[in-house]
Amino acid sequence: MRHKFWLMLALCLALSLARPVMASGSRPIALTSSVVPPVADAAPMLTDLSAWTAHTLQWGEEVACLAQRGGMDVSAVATANHVLNPALLGAGQTINLPPSGPHTLVAARAGDTPLTLAVKHNLSLWDVLRLNYAPLYTGKNVRLPGAGAETATCLPYPLASLAVSPQPVTRGRTALIIFETAEPAACEIRYLDQTEPCYPLDDSHLYALVGLSALMDPGTYTVKIAVQADGLETVFTVPLDVSAGRYGYQYIDPPPALSKLMDPELMQDELDYLAIWRTIRTPERAWDLPLAFPLPYQVSVSARYGDRRSYGGMVDGYHSGVDYRAWGGMPVLAPADGVVLFAERLEARGNAVLLDHGGGLITGYWHLSRIDVEVGQHVQRGEAFALVGNTGLSTGAHLHWEMWVNGVSVDATQWLSADAFSGLTLPALGAQPSVTTTASVAPTASVAP
Ligand SMILES: [Zn+2]
Repeated sequence: MRHKFWLMLALCLALSLARPVMASGSRPIALTSSVVPPVADAAPMLTDLSAWTAHTLQWGEEVACLAQRGGMDVSAVATANHVLNPALLGAGQTINLPPSGPHTLVAARAGDTPLTLAVKHNLSLWDVLRLNYAPLYTGKNVRLPGAGAETATCLPYPLASLAVSPQPVTRGRTALIIFETAEPAACEIRYLDQTEPCYPLDDSHLYALVGLSALMDPGTYTVKIAVQADGLETVFTVPLDVSAGRYGYQYIDPPPALSKLMDPELMQDELDYLAIWRTIRTPERAWDLPLAFPLPYQVSVSARYGDRRSYGGMVDGYHSGVDYRAWGGMPVLAPADGVVLFAERLEARGNAVLLDHGGGLITGYWHLSRIDVEVGQHVQRGEAFALVGNTGLSTGAHLHWEMWVNGVSVDATQWLSADAFSGLTLPALGAQPSVTTTASVAPTASVAP
């Protein structure tokens, strides 16, 4: 009887060591509790709060992991911070955290077992088992004795850092997300019923754009992020705060000659006709920040993006681009390198050109008097490709500049600012790949609704 017990025990232990870490989502292996005793280190007393330090939560950071770094349970940290539900804590909020515990937290990689971890970190197997009696799976934070250089980021595996800017983002504008990963990865993001790719910057960085319509409701939205690395997929969500912004109202009284273009059906047909070009995603980025001004002179804006509009009460809508007070015949310049996607005369938009700059960015130019390029032609940043005009539904010569980010019309003027995505920049095209995510975002608004 005694022999049988010890045999079973040895078998159990051998089995649990032999099997590698499983993917998150699949059933993890439990190290039998009869073999491994509960964790030896007692959690620090809650009463000793003097050594705790304030920490501002970063976007995507997991409070449970931060608590674990200090050798504590998430509920104990919540209690000490007088927080009822730690799940409602979000980026930008500050909480007090215990000092780092007497151990290092590392994320388990695919294939890790307690044995491989022990070998890798020059520890005894017993030390690894003693501190990690719960099941092990890829991305799980594993506790190892002693303070070490490598500490888990408290972001979902395999992320090393995650930044979004601006946050909150005004509706009608664009947010940029930069991902740093511990190993080469791919990802996609899902928001507002859209699934969009992330684009690689180098072996350890990816970026994604979120284009938001001026017509959406302000509020806190969810961005679902799926990261694939090492044959595994990690899915998690992060909050995105969208603020209302200030948009005006314009009543436009069109001259009788233009009233025939005030047909809502015609307007809709043209929108539908252009819809196919909104679906185009060219992976290679040809744009640099900030974009170049699309005209040779700094002319003023005659109608802002996003303003609600009524054309003689016949057609209502909003202004999907920005109008510049340019005179007829002024050259129109490419704001970035790109390929001509569309060059046609339309009824309402007049002579129209679309340029594809890659990475989900497309720009449009309406009411042109002349188009000097053909579909498929490459244009360079600053190159003239058309002339300003007054064709289509227009009451005077001007340039209507449109921008589509992942197919959604957004405010292009944001992209002219050197600080378009405050704190975040992308490497210049042709430059050595290096990514600045230094000013990891310090959101100004709370994410709690
Ligand atoms: Zn316009």
